[in-house]
Amino acid sequence: MNLIQRIHLLPQVLQDLIAEYNVEHRPKMFFVLREILILYDHSLRMKYVFMDLYTQVRYKGWKECVSCSDLVDPEHEYVFYIMGERNVCCSDWCKYDAEWSARKQWKAAIRNAAIRNAEINTGPDNEKSGV
Ligand SMILES: [Zn+2]
Repeated sequence: MNLIQRIHLLPQVLQDLIAEYNVEHRPKMFFVLREILILYDHSLRMKYVFMDLYTQVRYKGWKECVSCSDLVDPEHEYVFYIMGERNVCCSDWCKYDAEWSARKQWKAAIRNAAIRNAEINTGPDNEKSGV
């Protein structure tokens, strides 16, 4: 028999008296408990901030893979350049994947620019003037 079961065996007057000592029923305790809860929530969030700072300090000089976002050891990195920008990858596969994605985006940008230029050159104003 646990404490709650024993309390329920007592007369109602005594049960009410015991219930008055519940900390959540005290008028100012609600605000104190809410503050503790907020601080606890804040500490949980700060834990992730400190973990991120720890990672930055521990792996200083390490870059993030542009493809899979893993940390890359500077001694075992795969490097490629696109538009003069240095990109670092963790493996041969990530390098291939990142290069393929970048080239695909570059081709789409060129194609969209060509379509925009064609629309500008053959717009409604040019048709009316006969140019
Ligand atoms: Zn990678």
